[in-house]
Amino acid sequence: MRTIGHWIGGQATNGQSARTSPVWNPATGTQRASVVLAGASEVDDAVLTAARAFEEWAESSLTVRARILFAYREIAGRRLDELAEIISDEHGKVVADARGEVQRGLEVVEFACGIPQLLKGDYSDQVSTGVDAFSYRQPLGVVVGITPFNFPAMVPMWMYPLAIACGNTFVLKPSERDPSVSLVMAEIWKEAGLPDGVFNIVQGDVDTVNLLLDHPAVAAVSFVGSTPIARSIYERASKNGKRVQALGGAKNHAIVLPDADLDFAADHLVAAAFGSAGERCMAISAAVTIGSAAEPLLEKVSKLARNIKVGSGRDKSSEMGPVVTDAAKNRIVGYINAGEEQGARVVVDGRGLIVPGYESGFFVGPTVLDDVKTHMDVYRDEIFGPVLSMLRIDSVDEAIALVNSNPYGNGVAIFTSSGEAARRFHRGVNVGMIGINVPIPVPMAYYSFGGWKDSLFGQSHVYGPEGVAFYTRAKAITARWPKRKSNAGASMSFPTSN
Ligand code: NAD
Repeated sequence: MRTIGHWIGGQATNGQSARTSPVWNPATGTQRASVVLAGASEVDDAVLTAARAFEEWAESSLTVRARILFAYREIAGRRLDELAEIISDEHGKVVADARGEVQRGLEVVEFACGIPQLLKGDYSDQVSTGVDAFSYRQPLGVVVGITPFNFPAMVPMWMYPLAIACGNTFVLKPSERDPSVSLVMAEIWKEAGLPDGVFNIVQGDVDTVNLLLDHPAVAAVSFVGSTPIARSIYERASKNGKRVQALGGAKNHAIVLPDADLDFAADHLVAAAFGSAGERCMAISAAVTIGSAAEPLLEKVSKLARNIKVGSGRDKSSEMGPVVTDAAKNRIVGYINAGEEQGARVVVDGRGLIVPGYESGFFVGPTVLDDVKTHMDVYRDEIFGPVLSMLRIDSVDEAIALVNSNPYGNGVAIFTSSGEAARRFHRGVNVGMIGINVPIPVPMAYYSFGGWKDSLFGQSHVYGPEGVAFYTRAKAITARWPKRKSNAGASMSFPTSN
């Protein structure tokens, strides 16, 4: 059985900890490897290695950093297929989808290649007579990234390109469910010329995370995962005096007005609900129809959902793969059962799906529930699986109120041909990322990604301009270069301009 280890100081190591966790191939339902779970000694080693590397890396020129990022972009681009296949084998998603996640992650690397421009400071000449003021930003030190299973390449790439470009050193704690791709990313950094110790990986679980959050040499923590964990990470890391951004879970609505192109809306809804088996933080899990849109949309969505080809992520004809673990499968089926018991109508039923040749795989088929009400568990909880709940309401204002009464605020979409309705909607909803006829509005790398309410704890969104701000802190300098022997102008009063 293959062992997946850590990456510390530019080298792979399995460390000393005897604790391991199984890594599955979700399509076959068999264990493909064991991942080691870091204890105190590996965490200390990784963080102190990163702290030593920081001394030199923080002094590296912007030109050197940009060149390494360009090289990373080129090498990762060449290895895209390999990265996508590794992701598919451990996560389950289809290879084309995995390629898409790597591509979107690389867009953050491309953004970070512009770090000389991004870190330009401000300068004000002659703020007072003979006095100038300027400001610039400096890195924080050792930054930790703790990431979820559902985007094992992209979510880490939301963090480390900018953290490293800003002059920090990085310790990644990937999800223990699909850890292999992280080690390929480490190899790419090495080949790109990143000095050893700037990028490190410790594999692990909750115990490893707690060691990282408590380590005195860690300056900042970026977390992406489920809401209860995000909240506890935010609280613990903040209490320890660290800068922290913690992105949590989601319940993303799509509102469909009767004036929308319903074929277009149905197509996009189905892709957004069932792509990656619904295991996306921006997946649409609640389709909310207004008035007469309900029946025709349900019919179109159900037809499309029934025709989705479910199979191994490695099979080129598959449109949707398995879910990540047997436990995830059971949890999702449990929610469908609960929905049915609480009065929802199971229009398309993904329970009990068997994929020929993959009888032990962790498959749940696309599921559409109609007549869902807001008190039901399927609506209240994040299911994180291929389950689309349909709700019916009567107006855009009701839609805004519905979205705003949900504790999550990650993404939302509206399908309409009315600019007035779309504008009222995007201005009214308390949600971080909004799509207008766009079901998964993940912002481009030069904007920033983040939700509101229980979908984000902390002030900063990830990547884009807010990422640069998160991974740096500002200095403001006020400078005077008087002529020699001049002491004119000193005052015992608080200084003002003149
Ligand atoms: P998770 O919260 O279970 O795990 C995330 C990370 O936290 C992993 O590295 C895991 O090892 C670690 N972890 C698990 N339990 C922990 C604990 N008790 N204490 C400390 N660390 C712990 O999430 P997941 O199941 O891997 O990923 C799916 C979740 O992530 C969903 O809720 C999804 O919405 C969310 N997500 C959010 C975004 C976003 O941008 N908001 C993006 C991707 C995923």
